[in-house]
This record gives sequence, C-alpha cells and structure tokens, in this order.
Amino acid sequence: MAEQMDLWHNKPEEEPQARIAQLREEINRHNFRYYVLDAPTISDADYDQLFRELLELEAQHPELVTPDSPTQRVGAIPATQFGAVRHRVPMLSLDNAFGHDEFLEFDRRVKRGLGLPADTEVAYVCELKIDGLAISLTYEDGVFVTGATRGNGVEGEDVTANIRTVPAVPLRLRDEAGAEGLIEIRGEVYLSRAEFDRINADREAHDEAPFANPRNAAAGSIRQLDPRVTASRKLSIFCYALGAADDLEFATQQQVLAFIKDAGLPVNPHIQRAVGAQEVLAFCDTWEGRRHTLSYDIDGVVVKVDALEEQRRLGFVSRSPRWAIAYKYAPEQAETTVRDIIVQVGRTGALTPVAIMDPVTLAGSVVSRATLHNEDEIARKDVRIGDRVVIQKAGEVIPEVVRAITDARDGDERAFAMPAHCPVCGAEVVRPEGEAVARCSGIACPAQIKQHIRHFVSRGALDIQGIGPALIDQLVDNELIQDPADLYALTADQLMTLERMGRKSAENVVAAIQGAKAPTLGRLIFGFGIRYVGDTVAELLAAHFGSLERLREATHDELLAIPGIGPQIATSVYIFFRQEQTQHLLEKLQAAGVQPRVPAAPGEGPLAGQTFVFTGALNLPREDAEAMVRELGGKASSSVSKNTDYVVAGEKAGSKLDKARSLNVPILTEEEFHQLIDHARQGAA
Ligand code: NAD
Repeated sequence: MAEQMDLWHNKPEEEPQARIAQLREEINRHNFRYYVLDAPTISDADYDQLFRELLELEAQHPELVTPDSPTQRVGAIPATQFGAVRHRVPMLSLDNAFGHDEFLEFDRRVKRGLGLPADTEVAYVCELKIDGLAISLTYEDGVFVTGATRGNGVEGEDVTANIRTVPAVPLRLRDEAGAEGLIEIRGEVYLSRAEFDRINADREAHDEAPFANPRNAAAGSIRQLDPRVTASRKLSIFCYALGAADDLEFATQQQVLAFIKDAGLPVNPHIQRAVGAQEVLAFCDTWEGRRHTLSYDIDGVVVKVDALEEQRRLGFVSRSPRWAIAYKYAPEQAETTVRDIIVQVGRTGALTPVAIMDPVTLAGSVVSRATLHNEDEIARKDVRIGDRVVIQKAGEVIPEVVRAITDARDGDERAFAMPAHCPVCGAEVVRPEGEAVARCSGIACPAQIKQHIRHFVSRGALDIQGIGPALIDQLVDNELIQDPADLYALTADQLMTLERMGRKSAENVVAAIQGAKAPTLGRLIFGFGIRYVGDTVAELLAAHFGSLERLREATHDELLAIPGIGPQIATSVYIFFRQEQTQHLLEKLQAAGVQPRVPAAPGEGPLAGQTFVFTGALNLPREDAEAMVRELGGKASSSVSKNTDYVVAGEKAGSKLDKARSLNVPILTEEEFHQLIDHARQGAA
C-alpha cells in the first residue's frame, strides 16, 4: 500500500516515460490480482486513480501509447484452468465519469459525435451498475449452452458448469420471446450482501481468507473448479445487454431490456430513461443516497445512449463504447475515534498494526477495526491513539484509515511505536532494510505455527475436518505439534490428554488426519502457506510442474517463465524451497506417507482423449465421478454425441441412455466405471 501511495506522491518529478512504465506495471499487477486471483490489494478508487493518471499521461504523450498498455485492453488474460470461449462480439469495459462535470463532458462528446447542437437533449437509459462480474450466456434455439466470463474481452473462461448452478439463469428461454438461433445475453453475476456475509463467516470459521467484497466473492464463486462450491453460494444475475443475436432487431436499449425480461432472465427493476444530462444526474444522485436500501452492492450508474442507431454511429474506442459511461460513486467513508493500536502476528510472522476504534457504520455494516498496514503508513498518515480518523472500505475486507483529523486533537493523543518484541512469543522484531513490514524473528513463534497449521488443514488446502482453531491452539500450547507434519504422528491417546477430548472424538480426529494423505498437488502446495501463493497460483504451479520434486528444483527463471507468475511470487516460491525448515517439513511429510495426487496434464494420462457422459442417479456424486475422469486425463461432458466414448448410466437413466444406444456408444454400470478407473489408475501408477 505504501508503495502505491508513494507512487502518487512522487509523480510530478518523474520522466513521463518512466512513470508510464511504472504505472503500467503497477496496474497490470493489480489487474492480475483482481481478475485472475479475485483478491485485490487496493481499493477500486485507488486503482481508478492510477488508471486515470496513466490515461492522462498517454493523452499528453500519444507517441508513448502501446497496444499492450492496460488502457488499450480489457480485464486480464483468462486463467488457464478453464477452457477458453471466444466471444462472438467482444465484451468491453466502460469509460468512467467521476462526478457531475465529467458526466457533462461525456454528454458533450456524445452530442459532438452525433453532430447534434449543444442545446439538444440526448435520450439515455440509466441502469444501476451492479458490482459483480460480467458473464455472457449463450443460448441456441432457446437452450442454454455456454456461460463465459469476460476474460480479456475477446476470450473468456468457460464456466458453463458453474453457471448452470445459478438458479436465476434459465436453462431454456421462454418461448414467448421467440428467441431462435444463436443468442448471447450479457449480465452481471452478483452476491447479495447477506450471502456475502454468510460466506465470509463460514470461511473464517474454516480459517480461510475472507473475500474482500461481494464482487470478488461472486467472481471467486463463478471461477470455481468445483461446481458444488458454486452451487452452495446463492449467486444471482441481472442481465443488461445482448452480444451476437441471430434474427433480432431492436431500436432502443429499452427494447433490448424488455426482450431480455420476456425471455425469462432477470433485469434490474431500477432502470430509468432520462432525457438530457440533468435528468441523468438526478438519477445518479438519488441512487447515491439510496444505495444502501438495496440488498446488493452497486458502484455507480451505467448511462447508455438509448437509440441503438445512435450507438452504432458513435462506435467504440479500443476498450470501451463511446455511447456509454460508468458514473462512479466515491468510496464511502466514515469518521470515528481510534482507542488503541494493536499488533497482529500473521502466518509469515508479519506484524500488522490494527486500529481498534469506536464502532461506526460504514457501507452498511458496523466496523470497529481498521488496518494501518505498517509502520511507514502510520507515520505517513500520522495516526495516533486517541485521534479522530476518516476510514473507508478498501481492497481488503477490513477497512483502512484514510487520514487523521488533526484539527480535532486535544493533545492527549499518543504516537504508536512498533514493539521491539513479538507480542506472542517475545522474539525480537526485525524489519529488513528496504521492506515496509516488520516481522517476528522467532522460528518457533506459536502464533506463526498455529496460523500455519490452521492454513494447512483449512478447506482450500488439505481439508482435514474436525481440527478447528481451538484444538490447534491446545496442540501447539501443549507442544504436541510444531509443524503440519506432526499432525500425522498424533495418536488418540495423546489427544485424549487434552481438555474435553473423549476417545470417540480423538479417534475421529486421528482418522480424519490419516485420511488426508493424498491431497491433490495444488492443495498441498497451497497448504504450505508460501507467501503470495494463494489457491489459484498453487494450482498453476501444480499444473506446470506436475510433481513436488520438480517444483522443489525449479530455478527462479523457470518459475518466472510461467504466465501469471511475477517476480514477487517466483522469489517467494524459490526461497521457500531452499529453506532448511522446508526441507525438514517435506521429509517429515514424506515419511508420514503424504503423497500428493497429480492430475494428468491435458492430453496426457490413461484416459486422454476419452469423453465420458454420466446419466441417471449414481451412488457417487456426479462431480466426484467427473473429477476422477479429469484426474486421469479424460473429459466429462453433459451431452451424448458420436464423440462420446462411454456413457455411465445409473438408476432411472433417461434420454441420454437412449441416445447412447442409438449411437452405439458403450454403456457402463457404476461398478464397471469404478473398475475402469481402478484399471486406469494402475496403468498410471
Ligand atoms: P467497470 O467495472 O468499470 O465497468 C464495466 C463493467 O460494468 C462491465 O463489464 C459489467 O461487468 C459491469 N456492469 C454492471 N452493470 C452494468 C450494466 N447495467 N450495463 C453494463 N455493464 C454493467 O470496468 P471493468 O473493466 O470491469 O473494471 C474496471 C474497474 O474494476 C476499475 O474501475 C476498478 O474499479 C476495478 N478494478 C479494481 C482493481 C483493484 O485492484 N482494486 C483492479 C482492476 C480493476
């Protein structure tokens, strides 16, 4: 954070070329975190400011604009773990207007573009800007066939299986709409605030990092490898546009919206036609005050020229249409008083100062803690204990302190000093030169060990049930375990020496641990808790290296060469595997019999090139059966064709079974399927 702030403060002295390069790098990094990892580290407002600065510099120096500048592109490169879908009509971004003046400027541009006199009024449609992620739904003759993310605008990720679990997305359009041929409908998938809170509470109970905001949670839920997880989250959708559409003709955006609604897809009810800029601005202002009455987040209003013929005449610039703009709301802020500044010890030993404040309502929820990031930030903002402060929601789930209101001081305020010793283990606190973060130097700091183990057993990692934070605290405090590998040596008798632990529970815990010896490689890598390696990066590493041995030996350059891995991640992974502690941990895990399962690379594995279709009721969950096939290099599909290699039929199998018979596709019972899998596994071993 301090880094970005400094970037802004330094800007006037720098050479434009150097500053442009720096901004592009910075923005690309945030794009990756936002679009690929669904885990931003700065607020949208801070991001918009960086983007705006780059736009302005490029406008002043058009010779420095390059096609790969983030101002010329949409989103980010789609993640590799999903299939790619090419959009028939590109999915673009929107230009932003911050405040009335910028909207009036947009209105003037529209009139100029249409050759209209300045005193005419343009007819617009105002739509709430739902803060979710854009999705394209393709229907063929009324039947849902593909769901894709926006990706880089040209190519998105195939998330069809996940979209199918969203109840608001009809699998068949209403006949009344008369949608024949191919039609792409675009909309925003979002989560209500209540569902977002529920998901985060659940994640925290499982020691998983909470999502920063409903937008990231929605994106993370749609970009899930396991559709069951998507299905467990109550995602919803509002649709607002058409992409490619055979045989459909409309005159206005309002008609498009009416058609989408008729076809059976949800359209947001708060949509208004507004003639002239003043009516538009009145709508924007009304909803700025009212946004909290909605059950979902909006971050502004999308204003579109209503007449499609006028839209066509205005056309596009590289990444956005000239006929629409996102009128963005400022992030919400609140004022409160800092009562204390405490220090939290993270998994990597990082000490984060946190302000404990009088509870205050911010963006619809009550907050009483705000991050101060690090010592430099506190010094730069001069925040003291006892200060009145302005806070806002940033990229992180916990709000940040924007500034101290120094005029409100009465002299009793106290400056914060980073403790010289870790508040948990008493080891010395060190702050390496050039780094903003102070760390506890104790390798046996219980706070770090506990965080490490919590992470290792968490749902996204080894998913060991029944080992909650309280049990881990007891195990570490009683010196029964010191690292995740020690879990595997625990016995029921040892566990029974702990408070409130009966034989049955102890045996269950041991069984759960012993049952977790064959995680997928990606989960195991994620479980190590390497700095900057979240679940997506872990999967990327697993897919690229295929084994722990190869990853261990990877050079820094090899790591850097992987798309999606930047210098920071590469360095962190490289250093992790060169530490003595890591070697020790890996040896212990191996000795305990922990052996990661390795997914076959696409096109490899004993089932490569084979397509399976499951139908009817199986004893084993359909998703698990499909995962087994994928793990061995095969493909699972939902429809039977002449390219299907096997149809696995359970009880009450219907039309797919008939189709398999008519196409002479081999049909397997569930038992035969298991035999085939066992056989393939033996072949793979
Ligand atoms: P955008 O979110 O500003 O606007 C375009 C998007 O608006 C569309 O793709 C669509 O998803 C959405 N939308 C919602 N309602 C709509 C409606 N009724 N009609 C049309 N579109 C509608 O643009 P973007 O390119 O998706 O993202 C850029 C924004 O994302 C930035 O301005 C920033 O706020 C945020 N961002 C933040 C970070 C970060 O690190 N914090 C990084 C990258 C992007």
